[in-house]
Amino acid sequence: MNFTSTRGQTPALGFSDAVATGLAPDGGLFLPESLPQFSANDLARFAFAPTYADLCADFFKHFATDIDEATLRGIVRKSYTGFAPKDIAPLEQLGENLFVLELFHGPTLAFKDFALQLLGNLYEHQCKLRKQSINVLGATSGDTGAAAIHGLLGKPGVAIFITYPDGRVSPLQERQMACTGAENVYAIAIDGSFDDAQSALKEIFADQAFRTQHRLSAVNSINLARVLAQCVYYLSAWLRLPKDRRNEAEFVVPTGNFGNVLAGWMLQKMGVPIRGFKVATNQNDILHRMFTTGEYRVGSVRPSLAPSMDIQVASNFERFIYYSVGRDPARVRAVMQQFKETGAYRFEHFNPDTFSAARCTDAEIPGIIRTVYQKYGYIADPHTACGFKDLSRDRLSVVLATASPAKFPETIKAAIGIEPTHPSLEVLKGRPVVKHLLPANAAAIRAFIDTHAVQG
Ligand SMILES: *Cc1c(COP(=O)(O)O)cnc(C)c1O
Repeated sequence: MNFTSTRGQTPALGFSDAVATGLAPDGGLFLPESLPQFSANDLARFAFAPTYADLCADFFKHFATDIDEATLRGIVRKSYTGFAPKDIAPLEQLGENLFVLELFHGPTLAFKDFALQLLGNLYEHQCKLRKQSINVLGATSGDTGAAAIHGLLGKPGVAIFITYPDGRVSPLQERQMACTGAENVYAIAIDGSFDDAQSALKEIFADQAFRTQHRLSAVNSINLARVLAQCVYYLSAWLRLPKDRRNEAEFVVPTGNFGNVLAGWMLQKMGVPIRGFKVATNQNDILHRMFTTGEYRVGSVRPSLAPSMDIQVASNFERFIYYSVGRDPARVRAVMQQFKETGAYRFEHFNPDTFSAARCTDAEIPGIIRTVYQKYGYIADPHTACGFKDLSRDRLSVVLATASPAKFPETIKAAIGIEPTHPSLEVLKGRPVVKHLLPANAAAIRAFIDTHAVQG
């Protein structure tokens, strides 16, 4: 299968090349040339996969057609060995109409591990095959950086550079990035905001010569492999719901960059009969406004108790736009241009059937954590809590739990008086923090990469 850019000005690439490239050179995002259509028989066959990793391999073989099946299965199996052994994506029932899909049993205790463990192994495979090194660069406001680092740490031929705003990620998140002890990991604390880190990165990636020289790859949520890896937990959950109720299920998805919910929606487009999606945002509500009014308009970011959803522009949204404008790259370019110039875009034929939305302010999050705990005895982290707002009583809801409450001990303690912990986080507290302080500009980061990049 080939992958094309949403902006249509990049030649189609095979799976491995599209994954290694990350952002398409024309500024667009890669998508499958066409989506497979799964029949009822295909879905029944998926149910026979003995483990989560096997299900993931069965799914990926429709896309990663340039990797032989046995190799692919090996890569995928290896990717899920760092998860809690018992159940990789447990589906728990809290009420007659309420399930929680727990996606935080990976090495960094947030759902991003599902995609980034696999992405790390795909990069490694690519490096071996081509006998080439790769340098991975990303900016993070917290969870992505940690998950990316743990997907790549210790891999030969790979170096990873993660920039983050100094003093503005949680102490535990910083420790997950800066206490690994791995030589190929560079945690770069930027003297500036997340937006500063992000724009410095954009500038670096725009420099084709520099990109080529260091074989730079991006690790933010725009990588195609991440979206595909995230489709699998929806499929796994759907297969485990009671057979007679599967088709009524609405997935409630805490989202920021639109990566998480996009994956579910694409799976629905592949023929899996999911009833719909509820987009749950924090007070940074561009997506909530989009799905309630049809207008996508930038606001300004206000730091929240659910920091991994503090975004201004949802970078994955371009993929949604691509499908919404009839898969026409010229129209995508026009929409993105208009958005760049005016900061807004109105969807003409916006169909709210598949999507609903909820928004949760910081004032509401602790109360929701408390109510969920009192009602179900369940501890939801601040991101997951956004998903519990305004739950439908008569519809089957599956709330995606995106992070372990142990990552946000202060907020949980303030809400219910219990301070959750996790052994992997306790270990980090005893290790030295190794971070590199840099000014928030592209030149400084480039110079750092020049001296630390893996060559060859
Ligand atoms: C990243 C993240 C989200 C949002 O995911 P998107 O891909 O931006 O939609 C939600 N919850 C947690 C805990 C996260 O780390």
